[in-house]
Amino acid sequence: MGDFLVVAPAERPHLLGLGRQSLAKLLRTWGESPFRANQILQWLHTRQVTDFAAMTDISKTLRARLAAETRIDMPEIIADQTAADCTRKWLLRLPDGNAIETVFIPGEDRGTLCISSQVGCSLACSFCATGAQGLSRNLETHEIIAQVRVARDFLGLDAITNIVFMGMGEPMLNLREVLPALDLLRDDYAYGFGARRITVSTAGVVPGMDRLGAESPVNLAISLHASRDEIRDILVPVNRHYPLAELLAACRRYPLPPRRRITFEYVMLEGVNDADSHARELLRLLRDIPAMVNLIPFNPFPGSDYKRSPQVRIDAFRDIILRGNVMTVTRRPRGDDIAAACGQLAGQVRAGRRSIPLAVHS
Ligand code: SAH
Repeated sequence: MGDFLVVAPAERPHLLGLGRQSLAKLLRTWGESPFRANQILQWLHTRQVTDFAAMTDISKTLRARLAAETRIDMPEIIADQTAADCTRKWLLRLPDGNAIETVFIPGEDRGTLCISSQVGCSLACSFCATGAQGLSRNLETHEIIAQVRVARDFLGLDAITNIVFMGMGEPMLNLREVLPALDLLRDDYAYGFGARRITVSTAGVVPGMDRLGAESPVNLAISLHASRDEIRDILVPVNRHYPLAELLAACRRYPLPPRRRITFEYVMLEGVNDADSHARELLRLLRDIPAMVNLIPFNPFPGSDYKRSPQVRIDAFRDIILRGNVMTVTRRPRGDDIAAACGQLAGQVRAGRRSIPLAVHS
């Protein structure tokens, strides 16, 4: 085995979660050139090869050391469903028995993968299936990346053009693991997604938004859903900590690259947030922000009380926003026959907790 020790599995770093810098650092401590990181990243991520024997341009010693002192864990695929509209959903079991969901949404000129950042969610939004479960735990970087790998294993290496953090969980409450995942997704030696092909969505955790803006130039989406605090406090309870005025101030100071907009998601709930007056208020809120609005027809889930706004109401709401010169699209419910649409992801969450943590994990 040469001059290195076999490290107990629990202490071995997860190789698929190591970004360029962490990998280079590890190589340096092994007396290897940090530039080997590029080759290793390419094998592991660009080509999705995990068999060290195949990595022929890397020395045998280094390969043996990687095999002995790091680990590669992949989740078990426990369900793989395809909807009538070709949306595909995987249920992935993690070693602790929790399971998360990942959804692929094919489009005419794109393929969007919707990934999860936590097992469950602590934010308890009242119209969301994941929110009803509470939070079990944060995903680790390698578990976030594993979702992309599973989808590429099934779909081919080029099928995914866009990544959205709109699956289970609140990415801003897990930036410690999400930021390195963003680095890997963007790294040309790993997945090579352009920053504008990645979108991180938040219910409005303001400190997380500030940190993301400072560290990664990806797209930002805000789950707004209401034009007034009284309504938003009920729909998105984290609003009691970061009310609309603070949230929109964070949007205004967000360091948006030129010609980019923040996406505002707005779920259409009949009789709750879908009146003409709400649309006009929304326009006022967004007046000085480069914005686009995504109207999301509510997707029901077992136990939910809300109703989807009728199509005529959604269209009337959309027209008011459009007349205010804000780009607006109505999202089609995709994959709702397999519970893969926005807000329907449930996974299998063990011991979920429903308190809203204010600290942004660092
Ligand atoms: N926690 C993040 C990431 C989840 S993204 C966030 O809140 O942005 C999931 C998107 O689907 C969010 O915009 C969420 O508000 C929306 N959503 C949740 N439940 C929904 C439902 N039942 N119908 C339609 N959209 C829903």
